[in-house]
Amino acid sequence: MLALVKAEAGPGLRLQDVPVPSIGINDVLIRVHKTGICGTDLHIDAWDPWAARTIQPPLVVGHEFVGDIVEIGANVSGFKPGDLVSGEGHVVCGKCRHCLAGQRHLCVDTVGLGVGRDGAFAEYVALPMTNIWHHAPGIDEDVAAIFDPFGNAVHTALAFPVLGEDVLVSGAGPIGLMATAVVRHAGARHVVVSEPNTFRRELAIRMGATIAVDPLERDLHAVQAELGMVEGFDIALEMSGVEAALRSAIENMAHGGRIAILGIPTDEISLDVNTIVFNQLTLRGIYGREMYETWYQMTVMLQSGLDISAAITHRFGFRDFEAAFAAARSGDSGKVIMSWLA
Ligand code: NAD
Ligand code: ZN
Repeated sequence: MLALVKAEAGPGLRLQDVPVPSIGINDVLIRVHKTGICGTDLHIDAWDPWAARTIQPPLVVGHEFVGDIVEIGANVSGFKPGDLVSGEGHVVCGKCRHCLAGQRHLCVDTVGLGVGRDGAFAEYVALPMTNIWHHAPGIDEDVAAIFDPFGNAVHTALAFPVLGEDVLVSGAGPIGLMATAVVRHAGARHVVVSEPNTFRRELAIRMGATIAVDPLERDLHAVQAELGMVEGFDIALEMSGVEAALRSAIENMAHGGRIAILGIPTDEISLDVNTIVFNQLTLRGIYGREMYETWYQMTVMLQSGLDISAAITHRFGFRDFEAAFAAARSGDSGKVIMSWLA
């Protein structure tokens, strides 16, 4: 089969012929239909310091996908060839305290699809049956392909109740864009998106933002005044990984405000702890998605009218992976999808 491979240490990816993965008794083999490009894939392609210390080539990359089951292991039940599925990219140990308690997103021994094991930018991918999500009938395949980052968005957006609240979304990358639509769907009052990229600010408005501002040009206190907000944001979703964005969120929260942090800074950052203490803020780190409560929430929100399709801006065939990666890297894009059906 053809797959996008990090063949050796250093920048770049290669489209090459590799064996179809073999499956164990608890695994399923999936024919990949569509995949989404994630920031993680860009890091691996570029071979930045994180990738250099994390990735062991050769490795098939990619983890956001939808496809149909073509083969199941002898021990697998509940899945059959032809089922339309996506995969949870965090393969957990199943044995630690958190896994045993049903809190698999807290597993201390997680292996990432397309990071620590061969991934989904390929014609076929194998995963344990415990990592497979059955799509409900009627879910659009492009949206199904990005359930992984959509799950990051939902897990963060619903970390705290948003009904009637004023929400700040810092960073309108693909995940911030989807989170904007989610908090709007979940009944937030004002949804303020802070994002320096013009293309993404325009998309944020389409996703339901009340207002989208360039943090390099406008202070959030002025935005609060414009909207008639009195005490500050009730909820902030940090989705940029940028120090200035988190500091600005902390400065603009209402007393008792809550900040869910998904963005991953490249370095340590310093924060104003006095404001966190005196304004009684809660900061919560978010990693991945809950297995499988978040997947359920995504499904039922789509069934109850949530539309995130505008976050998908580019579509390519897998042979044009270089153009697809360039679009994702450019910043003038939302989610970039690659199709693997010839
Ligand atoms: P992205 O890099 O596409 O989006 C980040 C956005 O932040 C960009 O559009 C950028 O222009 C914007 N930005 C830059 N400076 C800013 C500032 N000062 N204020 C506000 N916005 C600013 O990333 P993404 O794929 O949407 O992911 C969002 C973040 O979440 C990234 O940091 C990513 O690494 C992280 N992430 C975390 C997890 C997790 O499990 N915790 C999973 C996936 C992604
Ligand atoms: Zn575990």
